[in-house]
Amino acid sequence: MSESSAPTKPQTSPSSPDIEQDLYKKREKIYPREVHGVFAWLRNIAMATLLGLFYGLPWISINGQQIVLFDLPARKFHVFGMTFWPQDFFFLAVLLIIAALSLFFFTALAGRLWCGYACPQTVWTEVYMLMERWIEGTRKERMKLDKGPKDTRRLRIKITKHAVWIAFSLWTGFTFVGYFTPITELWTSVLTWQLGPWETFWIFFYGFATYGNAGFMREQVCIYMCPYARFQSAMFDKNTLIISYDEDRGEPRGPRKRSLERDETSLGDCIDCTLCVQVCPVGIDIRDGLQYQCIGCAACIDVCDEVMEKMGYPKGLVRYTTENALAGQQTRILRPRVWVYTTLLLVLVAGLVYGLLTRVPLEVDIIRDRNALYNETDAGLVENVYHLKVINKADQPQSYQISVSGIEGLKLIGVDESVAVDSGAIKDVPLRLRVDPVNLESASSRITFHIESQTNPEIRLDETARFLGPGRR
Ligand code: SF4
Ligand code: SF4
Repeated sequence: MSESSAPTKPQTSPSSPDIEQDLYKKREKIYPREVHGVFAWLRNIAMATLLGLFYGLPWISINGQQIVLFDLPARKFHVFGMTFWPQDFFFLAVLLIIAALSLFFFTALAGRLWCGYACPQTVWTEVYMLMERWIEGTRKERMKLDKGPKDTRRLRIKITKHAVWIAFSLWTGFTFVGYFTPITELWTSVLTWQLGPWETFWIFFYGFATYGNAGFMREQVCIYMCPYARFQSAMFDKNTLIISYDEDRGEPRGPRKRSLERDETSLGDCIDCTLCVQVCPVGIDIRDGLQYQCIGCAACIDVCDEVMEKMGYPKGLVRYTTENALAGQQTRILRPRVWVYTTLLLVLVAGLVYGLLTRVPLEVDIIRDRNALYNETDAGLVENVYHLKVINKADQPQSYQISVSGIEGLKLIGVDESVAVDSGAIKDVPLRLRVDPVNLESASSRITFHIESQTNPEIRLDETARFLGPGRR
């Protein structure tokens, strides 16, 4: 990859000891031009969907329960009608693995799809640029405004832009906190000036981060801060879709009269209008080759297609293609790594769905008393002592009935008719099991505890354990 826009490196050499250069290149402000076309339309749809979900989801409730709420104080995570507890961390781990694998899968298949269409940095930057365009005008007008006199008009426009940005940032911070505190209560607290210190901190912190990243830092986040930009090229191969300029077709580039027919000039198809550079949100020239700064937004494709259409040339001088296709070789979309990612994803997604569908909101840990292998009672029975930790992961209090099976004549001592456990609570249930030793086939027998909710019979769990004794006498 070319690094044409990389930071300036120190250029001193033994032969030029007096030359001093800055270690870092000063950021040049980018004024991306507005672009229309198929990919801009797709980007807008992705942006509207993602922002709609982010800002809208916390306002939706079902049966009085916010549809997505991470209730940290209660250690409950409500997601689309299901309640998860810290003990369900396994599901989150699987979800994160699926997310990482999906990123690998889509990168191997279609390059930086994530960066161009779905990354929060891209999406919010796009929104902030949209607001900037509404208030400050087109690319030319924005450049003129920044270069022009610092008069009251400029001050007014800048104040308006920042006021709108700040309001939107604070709304973003508020929505973010609304995923952790019921959003209607949060809204009431805002209206009555009764926000707690942590809520206030996070609203301002998240709002400030949005304002800084999407309003000012923009492409700097992608170029200098994002680790994915650095390692994604390792997931590329010659069959990965990339956005590329067709050098064979475009060169030698140069301006020409629009009236000239295509075959009346010795020039290539690139008319060197630089529009592809002007629309680029990271300020690079796609004609310099594949560059790590390119976020794959496809704005240069849209604008170049427009130019080609006006010139009466075929579209696609800048297009989605692969290195193999550019070299005139066949592109293999379904290659081994794509199959591996697909298989792993299918297995994990199927496992996650199965796990969620069959999930029982009850967890039981069985701990055997380790002080003695077993006891013998005065009546000659063999006794084992256990502690059951019953965790009620349902939204309502439950009353459980505990029974045991596995050895003939096995008796459960020390447990009430039912064990009541509050929603989200853990109850320690000490109990003893006794049996006549003649019924013991071996020194260690497999037994099963049956825990069944009397409140909701669908909530039941069977847990196995070992019963120790002298064996058959
Ligand atoms: S937009 Fe197309 S024609 Fe214009 S400079 Fe870029 S590649 Fe060349
Ligand atoms: S080079 Fe093209 S695809 Fe890459 S970031 Fe710039 S405009 Fe987007």
